[in-house]
Amino acid sequence: MQVDFLIVGQGLAGSLLAKELLRRGRTVHVVDDCWKSSSSQVAAGLMTPLTGRRFTLTKDYPELFASAKKRLTELGVFRPIEVYRMFVDEEQRAKGLKRTECKSCQPFIARVTSARGELDAGVADEFGGALMNGAWVDLPKLMSDVRAELVAAGSLTEASFDPADAVVTADGVTWRTIRAGAIIYCDGYKSALRGPFKYLPWQPAKGEALTLRSDVTDKPFILNREGWALPLGQGVWRTGTNWQWDQLDEAPTEPQKEKLIRRFRSYFGQEVQVDVTAHVAGVRPCTSDNHPFMGTHPTQPRTHLFGGLGPRGTVWAPLMADEMADYLCAGKALRKECDLARFPAA
Ligand SMILES: Cc1cc2nc3c(=O)[nH]c(=O)nc-3n(C[C@H](O)[C@H](O)[C@H](O)COP(=O)(O)OP(=O)(O)OC[C@H]3O[C@@H](n4cnc5c(N)ncnc54)[C@H](O)[C@@H]3O)c2cc1C
Repeated sequence: MQVDFLIVGQGLAGSLLAKELLRRGRTVHVVDDCWKSSSSQVAAGLMTPLTGRRFTLTKDYPELFASAKKRLTELGVFRPIEVYRMFVDEEQRAKGLKRTECKSCQPFIARVTSARGELDAGVADEFGGALMNGAWVDLPKLMSDVRAELVAAGSLTEASFDPADAVVTADGVTWRTIRAGAIIYCDGYKSALRGPFKYLPWQPAKGEALTLRSDVTDKPFILNREGWALPLGQGVWRTGTNWQWDQLDEAPTEPQKEKLIRRFRSYFGQEVQVDVTAHVAGVRPCTSDNHPFMGTHPTQPRTHLFGGLGPRGTVWAPLMADEMADYLCAGKALRKECDLARFPAA
């Protein structure tokens, strides 16, 4: 079989890039190990505008969010919802109030509260909080929709890909019976462990999340304080997460489960029942400068990478998939801060 591009991995990156290439009339074949090692399957897919202890909006967020909203709405997986960031102390509350004066933050902040229970009597928000206009992305639906489309077209192989099995020449790439003009790695943090892009400064970080049932009243917003709780309706919640830079695997752990349950309970001003129905772990493909890795291998012109989406993959991926497809199909330059050429090969 001859195609234009062989894509390794069908997480968020591989799914959106495949769609962009197909939209430009290119042919693709995707090889994926059935999400055995997927960060996209574990993520809640939240889009939180102001983040971190300092409660800041990154410069690129408005542009990335606008583009993601448009593209993910077209794909039927964009779910707008407010995010209630509960402040941890007076200092953070003062920062929150200050942000309401910042022009670029204003479209994302719906309201700042100043006292416990002002927004919702059932929430333990001692120092008030900021209600933000956010969203979450239905990643499982996105990936299963794209997968169904690829399977129907005979464009997906379910297999574990080993870079050593691909024959890369100046003319293209051969893997099993597939001959492709080029190969694109979209295999998440696995590129940090082996293969042609291992030399890049990856900083993969493990995280865990729970799905649970609770007797707490459903809320119309995501709760956010040193973690998050996403209401899915009818007493079902997803909650997470933590950051771990060693023991990078997909194994959920008991201590984290206990921590996540404790934190979930701390969001409410009452005793809440919790029944955990799923506990998952994944590894975020983070990078040393918090920007994606996109572009072409320094010595293999037919080998490309689209990855390093980090903790905000849903915000980055739609616009970057579009720009990566323009780069691959029309030779349009990548933005410098995302082009992997910013890091010299070892
Ligand atoms: C706990 C947790 C919470 C998160 N929360 C959020 C959030 O709220 N919002 C947000 O925007 N982002 C969040 N993220 C980050 C987000 O998940 C990532 O940015 C994004 O999903 C990365 O997508 P990807 O396609 O690059 O990688 P992945 O999702 O890892 O996809 C890689 C794909 O390649 C496949 N693959 C890997 N190796 C091979 C191989 N050898 N052969 C074949 N196939 C292979 C995998 O099975 C997978 O399908 C979170 C991540 C974690 C772990």
